[in-house]
Amino acid sequence: MIVAGNTRVLVDAGLSAKEIVRRLAMVGEDAQRLDGVLVTHEHGDHAGGLRVLLGTVDCPVYISAQTLDAYVSERFNVNNEEPRRREKALRNRVEQIESSKDFRIGEIDFHPFTIPHDAVDNFGFTATHHGVKIATVMDFGHITTLVSEQLRGCAAIVIESNHSRDMLKACDNYPWDLKQRILSRLGHLSNEDLADWIRDGFDGAAKYIVLAHLSQRANNPYLAKINAEVALQEKTPLFPCETEICLSYPKEPTPWIEV
Ligand SMILES: [Zn+2]
Ligand SMILES: [Zn+2]
Repeated sequence: MIVAGNTRVLVDAGLSAKEIVRRLAMVGEDAQRLDGVLVTHEHGDHAGGLRVLLGTVDCPVYISAQTLDAYVSERFNVNNEEPRRREKALRNRVEQIESSKDFRIGEIDFHPFTIPHDAVDNFGFTATHHGVKIATVMDFGHITTLVSEQLRGCAAIVIESNHSRDMLKACDNYPWDLKQRILSRLGHLSNEDLADWIRDGFDGAAKYIVLAHLSQRANNPYLAKINAEVALQEKTPLFPCETEICLSYPKEPTPWIEV
């Protein structure tokens, strides 16, 4: 959730609609007051609650044509009503965006950019309001030059620290092919990859780096945090910075971060 001035944007709707509304209330937000829901890609953990949520809120959905298409047909099955329901729920509710073209929602300027992941058209983005820029980048297999460039000069960065490579490899719950998918360059970012970027790519500008999208089975929040903090310490003798590493948790809302 991003709030700037009088604009409130929900980023993705992967939880159940009920849970989204509940968690927004926990941080003092009313789902009725949303100005938009921005969908970064069609995967269930980002769009699974969207259809039901649209019955509760009346704001538009900002989504690309390709992602919309993939979202509607995702549960396609002759015995399944879901695609038809999704199509109906989104009728006249879509503000079509492009994953590489700037757009604006209320008082916030969004600059999306493509990131390497196995969805049809996923993007990370920066969001700017009155000259303050933040970034959200989740669900991507590796840090590209483009991603690193976009993260420069941000006041806060919400970034994936999905798994510990060793924990993922040792994890009994995941089949081999799923592990391969997560570890691939189109999968998810590991604690180790994030640490490398903090050490070698991060410009030190952000006051906060929020670790997000942590795997509940193949990661440990404290391990992820320590990995990032050690990387920051290794960097600071050369680039003193006051960056704070924060955690987000899967089962509760992340406290507000103000920049
Ligand atoms: Zn995801
Ligand atoms: Zn994904």
